Amino acid sequence: MRKWLWMALVLLLWSGGLQAAEGGLKPAPPPQRRFTVRVTPEMLRHSRLQDVLYFVDFVYGAAILVLVLATRISGRLREAASRAVRWPFVVAMLYFVLLSLVMTALDFPLSLYQGFIVPHQFDLTNQTFASWMSDFGKGLALNIVIGAPIAALALLGIRRVRRWWIVLWLGSIPLIILGVVITPLIIDPLFNEFIPLRDPLLRQDLLNEAARAGIEGSRVYQVNKSKQTKTMNAYVTGLGPSKRIVLWDTLLAKLDHDEILAVMGHEMGHYVLHHIWKGMAFGIGLSAFVFFIGQKIFERGLARWGARWGIADRSDPAALPWLLLVGAIIGFLLSPITSGYSRMIEHQADKFGLELTHLNEPMASSFVKFAEDSKHDPNPPRFIEWWRYSHPSDQRRIDFALSYRPWGKVSMRAGFSKCEGRL
Ligand SMILES: [Zn+2]
Repeated sequence: MRKWLWMALVLLLWSGGLQAAEGGLKPAPPPQRRFTVRVTPEMLRHSRLQDVLYFVDFVYGAAILVLVLATRISGRLREAASRAVRWPFVVAMLYFVLLSLVMTALDFPLSLYQGFIVPHQFDLTNQTFASWMSDFGKGLALNIVIGAPIAALALLGIRRVRRWWIVLWLGSIPLIILGVVITPLIIDPLFNEFIPLRDPLLRQDLLNEAARAGIEGSRVYQVNKSKQTKTMNAYVTGLGPSKRIVLWDTLLAKLDHDEILAVMGHEMGHYVLHHIWKGMAFGIGLSAFVFFIGQKIFERGLARWGARWGIADRSDPAALPWLLLVGAIIGFLLSPITSGYSRMIEHQADKFGLELTHLNEPMASSFVKFAEDSKHDPNPPRFIEWWRYSHPSDQRRIDFALSYRPWGKVSMRAGFSKCEGRL
């Protein structure tokens, strides 16, 4: 019996020593992963507040447009614009500038609450008021510079063509494409600094991952989003020469190596599955319906209330708030369709990421971090998710990441070495 005892002891020591030796060869112990979101009362309060603000934002915006029409502020702004300049096209542009300033002033309390006060209340940002105001001012300036000529062109189309919804719809297509191409090149750099990914090790691993995904010469950038927020994100943007994957610096600081590779697998899914093109095609298709119905409602409303609002005819710039209101209401009512489409695309990207990386657990733990970090309820009310969520709820994504293994029930490591052995 004693002999057995000694052998057992020797074996135990030997295996222990082996483990220690193996441990010594590895650079770091595997990170502790959590797959359950710690749901806090603060997180629930924040999520419910966001849900309420989503609807308040729509109602408040619509109420401002009604106010501008019903009090004839809109009509007076057009009179002021036409006194200042002569050409109708320039009158329309000037009117748009004045309308934007009035609307922004009326909307400012809600913008301030949503954009600055709430994120500070929930400790989601370090941004100073000056920096926030600077971003806000840049946003307004961009809105005016881009919006004024588009509004004037739209009014020109409305004046010249009976079925103007077709003109507006066709005209919107090149504008959308142009917008997607130039946003990462011209607009985004106005707010943040974009640089090629710094970490050389991560860069190499991401390039290898991209090569496996079939993305050649991939462009991966990091952006100093910590300027505006403590929350994290990554995204794919641009088209053709401007197409790129962007990682927020907050994400790089908070996720570990494998979690970043898993999240990037999702982003590469968007890239490889052409989600930007598909999303645009979906938007253009749906907007045909919006413009068609929009013209009917717009003209019926003008026939009924136009005189009371001081609007001369359908191409009067003073009718613009009514056009915006009709578009906003139709867009709002279509939210479940656009959100549902977006959730479908996001789910496809999750699936692609898992198939590419087999990093189920890092993907799940990164979603845990996303939820806790952004103070997002992982289990939102079903109606809210259906109406407005662009991504499946975090809990759904965690469950999916942990369960989706179509490549077989072998362990991750064994799966990889098998593949390498065969190929
Ligand atoms: Zn995505």
